[in-house]
Amino acid sequence: MMLRFGLALMAAVFACTAAVAAVGDTQVMKWENGAKACFLLMFDDGWPSAHQVAMPELAKRGLSATYYIVPEKGEYKTQEKIWKAHAHDKGVVLGNHTMHHDKVTDYEQAMHEIGDVNTYIRSIVTNPPPPKLISWAQPGLKPGCWTISKEDMDRVLKACNLVSRPTFDGHGAVYHLQTCEQMMKLVDKALAEGGMEYVIFHGLEHKAPWRTWQDFWAMKQDVCFPFFDNLSELQKKGELWVTDHISYHRYETEFKTAKAKGARGEKNAIVVKLSTEADPEFYDYPLTLETQVPAKWRKATVRQGAETVTCDVKAGKVRYRAVPGKNSIFIKEAK
Ligand SMILES: [Zn+2]
Repeated sequence: MMLRFGLALMAAVFACTAAVAAVGDTQVMKWENGAKACFLLMFDDGWPSAHQVAMPELAKRGLSATYYIVPEKGEYKTQEKIWKAHAHDKGVVLGNHTMHHDKVTDYEQAMHEIGDVNTYIRSIVTNPPPPKLISWAQPGLKPGCWTISKEDMDRVLKACNLVSRPTFDGHGAVYHLQTCEQMMKLVDKALAEGGMEYVIFHGLEHKAPWRTWQDFWAMKQDVCFPFFDNLSELQKKGELWVTDHISYHRYETEFKTAKAKGARGEKNAIVVKLSTEADPEFYDYPLTLETQVPAKWRKATVRQGAETVTCDVKAGKVRYRAVPGKNSIFIKEAK
């Protein structure tokens, strides 16, 4: 009896010691800002309702999305000026959906049909600098239109620094998903698994002043607006990170091999080194970190390179964003 009690006590002491984090211990969060899951909103084909309805409604709610444009398609061409005006908006990221939304037969043709969209996006998105990686969505076409071989297509994607977005299967608004509840099931799945989920939209319902006709597969406002409200609410609570496809891709790629090591440095500072095996040319998206600081700290300054931010200390930890593979991170107590 005595022995058993002794072992139990030892186990308890051991568990306690293991649980106490040392000053400098640093964790890389799986998703930005410590969210439990990630969610992507995507809008295909450059329909007018993307800028007329989606952009203002998402901006109001602080949500980002990826817009897959088709620069030579009629609806886009007639509204090109408006699209260009929105190209730098916060939360608006342009993706590649080919120049014409038409057939692609071989490597040479694909380099124009697909490569030219990249050139176009990089010519209108200039500040901050043009994107190195661009999200790719293959257009849905009739059988027999997309005849390029898989090998050639892979070569095109690589040559153009394109990243394929997840598939349409089971994720199309109106086509697969008709209600807010159905879309919320995907959100719940992402939260339960700590993973990523998404919805692919085409049109959203127009109301006055935009005439009476509707875009292709226009989702009713009374279905999608409550859904956007829910996403915004979850994002505000810190549970969900709603972002564009490339930001998600970069974060996830860097996170997979991310290592963070913190230790006490000079003058009570904590020095953290953050690395990843991902190619720094494309993968320099800031990751979210949490570092254990001395118990008495209430505020801390976090500096990496020329950037310094002041953060509140919560439960003995400071949470901040840092770019892997760059300068060391210096954390100090702020008065
Ligand atoms: Zn399409």
